[in-house]
Amino acid sequence: MITLQDSSDDQLIIVDPRQVSRFDGYVVLTHEGKLVVPGSTDLYWRHSDLPDAGDFHHMVHHLGIYRNHGCYSVELTRKEVEGLDASTVSLRDFLGQIPEGLFRLLGRALQINEWYRGHRYCGYCGEPTRLLEGERAMTCSSCGVACYPRLSPCIMALLIRGNECLLARNKQWTRPFFSALAGFIEPGESAEQAVRREVMEEVGLEVGRLEYFRSQPWPFPGQLMIGFFAEYARGEIRVDDIEIAEARWFRVDRLPSIPGEFALSGQLIRAFVDRCR
Ligand SMILES: [Zn+2]
Repeated sequence: MITLQDSSDDQLIIVDPRQVSRFDGYVVLTHEGKLVVPGSTDLYWRHSDLPDAGDFHHMVHHLGIYRNHGCYSVELTRKEVEGLDASTVSLRDFLGQIPEGLFRLLGRALQINEWYRGHRYCGYCGEPTRLLEGERAMTCSSCGVACYPRLSPCIMALLIRGNECLLARNKQWTRPFFSALAGFIEPGESAEQAVRREVMEEVGLEVGRLEYFRSQPWPFPGQLMIGFFAEYARGEIRVDDIEIAEARWFRVDRLPSIPGEFALSGQLIRAFVDRCR
């Protein structure tokens, strides 16, 4: 079982990597999208506990400051993983079970290492790339193109009609719970336009006034969720039958099973409940 720590200093502070030169502090090890963890009590390593830490210098990425320590990520090869006394776990399995700052640190490590892993060769000319000095970019040694980590912005919308909200059950979910609507923002589209389009596509309803709620990084694999309250304008529910299995209006005092508080959808729904009190 993972030890839950006091969350009073549970904050990831992201700083300019150029301000950090010493490889020391906490290290998040990953291998092909999974965390490589020491034993079963912690999800990251202390630099001093890493055997032959100097050998990992070839692909160290600075992550920021967590609990007053500089934090780094390293993507290991299969051989390096086998050489450690470690186990491999998925961050998804710790959703809602670890402090938010730690979740962000680990998610950031996975996103940066996956970007690094996927950009070792140039997508334009196929030549090898290298890490650009002092910047978070992989640059091509031949054509000079620079690739930065990429986020995928998504909208999440809680549709509201009086003291009711619209919740939907996704076809792919194995558990029987209901959530707010969500979808990727298309190239050339604003977040607000994406809300109106997704709601129309998924449940056939027209949206009126929008109100921004908050955003949340979601590292599976690299989304930025942008949450909105969306006022119902007109229309009857017509489920798309592709992504959505069922969508219904729920009264605030008769909600079904909803996502946990760690997820933006769970936060949106709980904020709506608080408003209706
Ligand atoms: Zn190139």
